[in-house]
Amino acid sequence: MGSWEQNIASFLHAFHLDSIKNRILVFAVLATLIPSLTTTWLSYTHNKRALTDKITAELQNISSHSARETNLWLKERFYDMRVFSISFEVSGNLDRILRAQRRSTVDTEALRRMEDYLTSVRERSADYEELSVIDAQASVIASTGNPTELRLPEDWLSQVAEAEEVRGDAYWEEESKQVVMMIAWPIKAQDDRFLGAVAAKVHFRTIDRTLHSVALGETGHAYLLGKDGTIMVSSRMAPAALKNIKLAPRTLRELSALQGGSIEYTDAQGNEVVGTLDHVPQLDWAVVADIAREEAFVQILELRNQTILMVSVLLLSIGLIAYVLGIAIVRPLDRLTIGAAQVAGGDLEVDLPVVTRGELGSLTRVFNDMVARLRHGREELERLSVTDGLTGLYNRNHLMETITKEVARSDRQEEPFAAMMIDLDHFKKYNDTHGHLGGDEILVKMSAIFSDCIREVDYAARYGGEEFLILLPGTDLEGGVEVAERIRSRLADTKLDDKKKKVGITLSIGVAEFPRHGDTAQTIIAAADAALYQAKRRGRNRVARATPTKRGPATRPRGKQARKRA
Ligand code: GH3
Ligand code: MG
Ligand code: MG
Repeated sequence: MGSWEQNIASFLHAFHLDSIKNRILVFAVLATLIPSLTTTWLSYTHNKRALTDKITAELQNISSHSARETNLWLKERFYDMRVFSISFEVSGNLDRILRAQRRSTVDTEALRRMEDYLTSVRERSADYEELSVIDAQASVIASTGNPTELRLPEDWLSQVAEAEEVRGDAYWEEESKQVVMMIAWPIKAQDDRFLGAVAAKVHFRTIDRTLHSVALGETGHAYLLGKDGTIMVSSRMAPAALKNIKLAPRTLRELSALQGGSIEYTDAQGNEVVGTLDHVPQLDWAVVADIAREEAFVQILELRNQTILMVSVLLLSIGLIAYVLGIAIVRPLDRLTIGAAQVAGGDLEVDLPVVTRGELGSLTRVFNDMVARLRHGREELERLSVTDGLTGLYNRNHLMETITKEVARSDRQEEPFAAMMIDLDHFKKYNDTHGHLGGDEILVKMSAIFSDCIREVDYAARYGGEEFLILLPGTDLEGGVEVAERIRSRLADTKLDDKKKKVGITLSIGVAEFPRHGDTAQTIIAAADAALYQAKRRGRNRVARATPTKRGPATRPRGKQARKRA
């Protein structure tokens, strides 16, 4: 095996992938997962980018629109302040009140008129929580409420005197439960003398409506942020819910740093959102528009779920196919393994079914072929072990087994069988005359004579040398004698190879009948042998019947002495 093959094998072993079935399974799973996940990832990033662009554009629309609206709203407030301050009800009356003060009197008429004006204005316009008129020494001259403190910059009076509009930071007001802000505008006399200022406490409910109308989708949220991240007004939260609600400084920094994009972050209430920020023109305020990430990317979530479903179904079906394929490969291999083990154990009757056409089919065919050859080889060996090499008849070993079986069978079926012992006459002499090979030729001719003269069910064997034994199942003594005579005369008629001369050799046969002349293999052979001896003694070239004896069948003396006697 090549070293690379070894490396791969040990690598697969490390992952418990020795079995072909598992390898196919793993390959199928990888072949499904890699392309589907790659495709999913590509489409996911593409979709996410497209969706992010769309959401960002929508959010930016909202935040920039709201920022412009807010800016406009604040401008309108200062415009209101200007209108109040130049109205005679404010500036004229304030002038009168201050003059009376300098005379240490009180112009109650002017004060009442101013207060009435402030109250009527406050009732008419929705945005003011409280309106006050303040003199140049920061004393409250008149107010719709009861101002305890003016949350305006420290030097607001000098600012308002010079730059007109002044604005404080937005703050949470406990009494009204909302975020409010103070703004101020100078009041000047007709001769342009600085008299004091109008200060108004405004709330942001008008902006609230704007934000409500623009917020995106179901989870969309738009809100106005003060410079420190205070949420001044929100499309989602009631004004009373805004106490201490601030955007995390880090998030505020990240959002402020945006140059026309969107980011994903956790909002002040802990929601995962996508949002944009737009600065309110000319102010340190900003509008944030955001939407829950889940809603923004709902299509992507749907895509993800569909993908998971699709990949699961794919994996399941591909896995199933791979499993079935694995089994289709492993089954024949298992059969081959079991078959090989059977052959190794000596069973050569194995013949495996060839169910596939491919390599495994070929392997199975080759295996079957190999086993068949082994089987034929063994059968040939078995045949050789029971046959006589010269004549092709059964040998003595086989004869002894067969006659024992025949005794048992005939005994069981209570029928006779005839046994004949055949011996060539003066064969020694024949050998001497014609040579040993000539003698062999006679022996071979004998087997041809037997197959001509006996039935299919009969049985002929070479008993030894030039002696043969024939068994005729279901045949009695007379039937056996008949066949014996046929064999004897057939040999007499047999010609030599040149077909001119007769063989010139005879034979003697002794016939015995089971169970009349012997009821065992040994006794029946001995009876036939004894009859053969009688045939020899009576002059050879004849058939002799066995005779039953009380002490068992007689045996003929064998060897030279016996022949001499005969
Ligand atoms: P008998 O009539 O008394 O049977 O005389 P015989 O010469 O045939 O005497 P016996 O049966 O004792 O001798 C058998 C002879 O057969 C001895 C041997 O030379 C011969 N023989 C035995 N086997 C073979 C063989 O395979 N081939 C050949 N050519 N001759 C054999
Ligand atoms: Mg003999
Ligand atoms: Mg002989």
